[in-house]
Amino acid sequence: MFIDTHCHLSKEDYDDINKVISENRIAGIDKIIISGCSKNSIEESIDISELYDDVFVTIGYHPDEASQITDDDLINLDKLLNHRKIVGVGEIGLDYHYSKELVNEQKALFHKQLYLAEKHNLPVVIHSRDATEDTISILKQHPNVHGVIHCFSGSLETARTYIKMGFYLGIGGVVTFKNSKLGTVIKEVGLDHIVLETDSPYLTPEPNRGKKNSSKYIPDIAKKIAELLGVSLEKVSEKTIYNTICLFDLR
Ligand SMILES: [Zn+2]
Repeated sequence: MFIDTHCHLSKEDYDDINKVISENRIAGIDKIIISGCSKNSIEESIDISELYDDVFVTIGYHPDEASQITDDDLINLDKLLNHRKIVGVGEIGLDYHYSKELVNEQKALFHKQLYLAEKHNLPVVIHSRDATEDTISILKQHPNVHGVIHCFSGSLETARTYIKMGFYLGIGGVVTFKNSKLGTVIKEVGLDHIVLETDSPYLTPEPNRGKKNSSKYIPDIAKKIAELLGVSLEKVSEKTIYNTICLFDLR
């Protein structure tokens, strides 16, 4: 059994959501957590979660949306966070990869959503791309907030900083890629602070890299981690499920 702690599931990417869910179940995926991170995907993710017992949702505005999000959108997010299938706020954070033009808008949106997480007592799912320093400095201003660094791919030093701050590391398909440096990090941090994620439809793990990603490929990520640590697949399953349940308070 495995849990995919971070995926995107929408009709735009998958023609048949029912089929995706049943393939997940066959592959031993016990639960999935969809990340709704734009106005449309937030609504759609919640709708999907209402149809399936094993689907949960985190919602929050992605930093790429920073220029478009209004105060009304944040009021709406505040209301939606009370929904019974919501288990966290995210993905939220900072993304300087393509442009640093909207840094101030991104930071402001990040702060506002961290306050909402605090208010609702929910964990956060952090998206941080080429913005490690600012992400850490903003998170330190919200010491009551904990959560997961989604798609972690930083250095061992950064991993240790996040773990010390009470965050888990979300490990996905990147760990299976040939030139990935994540193996060194995982060998050092072990299983105590990691959760599994696909970020599907993106970042498909080996040996299916190139195909559209799906939660059913989580075992390929777990296998790689088991191999790196020299432990059984069952051990990876057991510990990452335990971490996920603690992190998102899943029942
Ligand atoms: Zn994502």
